[in-house]
Amino acid sequence: MDLSVLKDSLFSQAQDMGANLCGIADLTDCTPWIRENYGDLCASFPRAVSISIFFPREIIAEQAVGPTRSYSYFYAAINRQLDSIGFRISNVLQQNGFRAYPVPTSDYRQTHLVPGLQEAVAAGGTGSLPKMQTELMGMFSHRFAASHAGLGWIGKSCHVINPQVGPRLRLTTVLTDALLPPDQPIPNRCGGCTRCRDACPTHAIRGVSFRPEDPPSARIDKDTCYNFLEDLAVVFGQHTCAKCLAACPWGSK
Ligand code: SF4
Ligand code: SF4
Repeated sequence: MDLSVLKDSLFSQAQDMGANLCGIADLTDCTPWIRENYGDLCASFPRAVSISIFFPREIIAEQAVGPTRSYSYFYAAINRQLDSIGFRISNVLQQNGFRAYPVPTSDYRQTHLVPGLQEAVAAGGTGSLPKMQTELMGMFSHRFAASHAGLGWIGKSCHVINPQVGPRLRLTTVLTDALLPPDQPIPNRCGGCTRCRDACPTHAIRGVSFRPEDPPSARIDKDTCYNFLEDLAVVFGQHTCAKCLAACPWGSK
């Protein structure tokens, strides 16, 4: 199948399953960075299909006041829907003869393998291996893929900001070797705005514009944010704070 036709077909199928936005990221210029940060498997794919579903605006608006169960519920529900779409898209790519890897939508995993894990599993047990150290890092950055696929820019809050809905969206990614025609990134439009920084109760957001050469720590103290989410989970039962989403003027009405 012609790759432009395949792209249209993938987008159409994703939209039929509830996707609001789709785009293709050209990853070829970023291969060394991807290898360094996400490993050889991710670096072996020259394209990413980025897919988004919008969050209901009213549910995000409530977060300006405080955490709600509705937010947590739909966060999980949208993730499940996105995983289904990613699974479908990867199947279609595979049926057309391409490699495709659906990146789990929300997945915290260890940033390095526990030494001796393979040997212990091969021996039929995990013995006295230390507890796995995890860091809040996915297998591949959905935000990176989305920003390169033209779904939005990386804001001062580190979220992908789309002109239509701001950061009120969730993302998933399918990595592939199908050389689908890529879409163009859109320019950063945060300008002088600092509303996400001003709304953050922990002062984790520094109010610094995205620059590709900077690490995320230049923009956000993620440990401070995550520690606050852990504290919230103790008293509220959910890791739920989205004040930085609710504050963004893009897509707020
Ligand atoms: S989720 Fe809450 S604590 Fe974390 S950066 Fe956003 S506003 Fe700050
Ligand atoms: S609130 Fe303002 S600074 Fe923060 S991401 Fe949105 S537009 Fe950018």
